[in-house]
Amino acid sequence: MIETLTHLSEQQREIQQVARDFATERLTPNAGAWDRVSEQPASIVRELGDLGFLGMLLPEEYGGLGLDSLSYLIALEEIAAGDASTAVAMSVHNSLPTEMILAFGSEAQKTTFLPKMATGEWLGAFALSEPEAGSDASAVSTQAVRDGDSWVLNGTKAWVTNGNRAQVILAMVRTDTPGNRRGSRGISAFIITPDLPGFHVGKKEDKMGLRASPTVQLSFDGLRVPADRLLGAEGQGFVYAMQSLEAGRLGIAAQAVGIAKAALEHAIKYTRQRHQFGKPLTEFQAVEFKLADMATRLHASRAMLHTTAAAKDRGENVGAHAAMSKLFASETAMWVTTQAIQLFGGYGYVTDYPVERLFRDAKVTEIYEGSSEIQRIVIGRAVTAS
Ligand SMILES: Cc1cc2nc3c(=O)[nH]c(=O)nc-3n(C[C@H](O)[C@H](O)[C@H](O)COP(=O)(O)OP(=O)(O)OC[C@H]3O[C@@H](n4cnc5c(N)ncnc54)[C@H](O)[C@@H]3O)c2cc1C
Repeated sequence: MIETLTHLSEQQREIQQVARDFATERLTPNAGAWDRVSEQPASIVRELGDLGFLGMLLPEEYGGLGLDSLSYLIALEEIAAGDASTAVAMSVHNSLPTEMILAFGSEAQKTTFLPKMATGEWLGAFALSEPEAGSDASAVSTQAVRDGDSWVLNGTKAWVTNGNRAQVILAMVRTDTPGNRRGSRGISAFIITPDLPGFHVGKKEDKMGLRASPTVQLSFDGLRVPADRLLGAEGQGFVYAMQSLEAGRLGIAAQAVGIAKAALEHAIKYTRQRHQFGKPLTEFQAVEFKLADMATRLHASRAMLHTTAAAKDRGENVGAHAAMSKLFASETAMWVTTQAIQLFGGYGYVTDYPVERLFRDAKVTEIYEGSSEIQRIVIGRAVTAS
């Protein structure tokens, strides 16, 4: 047993314990069943809200806990260790729509949306990607046209986490005109609610992992959005989204750390009790070395994440460091879960044990909120800039 390092404050350790208890009691025992049926009870969102986990970064005046990023990411790691599908709902909600409204919204938008988002009464989603615009997100084609005191939106958003259960969706759409395209400066952010006429939930993706987290297409068919739902300034939506994705990347790094932590814990437990050649697997040095490497890479991922989060909380520019954290943590999660399956042997390859699910859940952390290749582009640009 490795001692926990004590760089966390007493309050942060308390938050960690609350999240760990919730994960142990409510998530870990159910994650396998939710994965099999590809859904989880709707009450989970409210339970996260009741614990304050859906408004951790929001100031108290908007119903949040007013906590620092590190506290939030510590809680997110524990939730991810219990169930990565629950963690992505929490990460997207906290890092993207709520943060965008807080950072760029009008006072009326903040008071209308944030208190209900903080309790989990309203879950948030972030709709940037489209079928033809993924890594190159500035290529979105969903179009908004001004019509009196509203905007009329047409187009399709893809891969929207929480999209079929969110009450608040931050959507990035074009507000420039076909005759005057302005690239990423022609994109604006809108606060969409599913009650608006012309809002439709489309195909639900049948995914390899994160199966209990709904990922859906949304279609906007003449969706009429009141003008006061434009977030911030017209033409700034892409800039807002990119700034918010910095926090999002730390959230996905925390999710990856949580998945790796769970895989390591399962591997330690299993190799202690599994006997071959008359002794526990942990007594073979090849096994012990593998566990040592898993623990070391996990510790490095967590240390990088915590250092970056603490720097962000001090107001430092952490763009490239957030990309490094996400890159390293997600590739660690993939590597650690692969090793865990190896340590379980054939039992790692079947659904009787959770490591095959953790392996499937880990993969997407290398893909969404900027793939590993995109993180390397961000880091590469930073290290080669003069
Ligand atoms: C489960 C899940 C949930 C998601 N949730 C959301 C969400 O809530 N909101 C949202 O907006 N989006 C969401 N996404 C979309 C996600 O962000 C995109 O899938 C991701 O950005 C990659 O885009 P793409 O899938 O179109 O792949 P592509 O951009 O087509 O990339 C395909 C491959 O090419 C590589 N590639 C692309 N460009 C370059 C380059 N310049 N150099 C080197 N390699 C490159 C990529 O790294 C990747 O390996 C989600 C995706 C998944 C799978």
